[in-house]
Amino acid sequence: MIRVTIWNEFRHEQIEPVKSVYPRGIHSAIAGGIAAEDLEIRCATLDEPEHGLTDALLNTTDVLLWWGHRAHSAVSDEVVAKIRTRVLRGMGLIVLHSGHNSKIFSAMLGSSCSLRWRQVGEKERLWVAAPSHPIARGVPQTFALEHEEMYGEPFGIPDDGKIIFMSWFQGGDVFRSGVTFQRGSGRIFYFQPGHETFPTYYDKNVLKVISNAVRWAAPAEGEFAWDCPKCEPAEPIHPR
Ligand code: ZN
Repeated sequence: MIRVTIWNEFRHEQIEPVKSVYPRGIHSAIAGGIAAEDLEIRCATLDEPEHGLTDALLNTTDVLLWWGHRAHSAVSDEVVAKIRTRVLRGMGLIVLHSGHNSKIFSAMLGSSCSLRWRQVGEKERLWVAAPSHPIARGVPQTFALEHEEMYGEPFGIPDDGKIIFMSWFQGGDVFRSGVTFQRGSGRIFYFQPGHETFPTYYDKNVLKVISNAVRWAAPAEGEFAWDCPKCEPAEPIHPR
């Protein structure tokens, strides 16, 4: 059983036009869309105490999903530090859409995470760039979203990211729309689709990618020794 926590800012959905698209919140749409017998899914939102991310919840989370946009600065640094430590110790992190500007994403990557954007509802076409990767399993080689926010290059992420998806937008821009990273023992996946005014999180291909990513990001056996342990020699050492 993989213990999944979907974190959502959950402020856009309080008002129109987003309320009509996601009446129960983006988190509920994703939770319903990826529900499966091997996933135990909980949700947490910004305006709950500790943003819903209590120690009890974080310490029992295998994979954390993150959607935020207008209130990145309202997320407490203390909670971000706890999440970062959990990721280094093996918790998976999936950052969605405007989460590229979240505190936790830049804390993990150490770069600007900046990009170019345009919100006119143009068409996006995604391409699988790494067909043998587990996140691309069962996903068509290419699929389109009729309306999305354009996110374009240059994308300020480190060069060690592995590109799983690339996107083309109707206006001519291109973007690394699905990228994986490893930080400590933790696996990280950034996935670009998901602007709040479009029904992107009901799209079967988008949900398939997120489902695959949850299973890929679940912690592997064997934790990295992240706390600098003093060690004994593996071979006897003879003084000169
Ligand atoms: Zn957006």
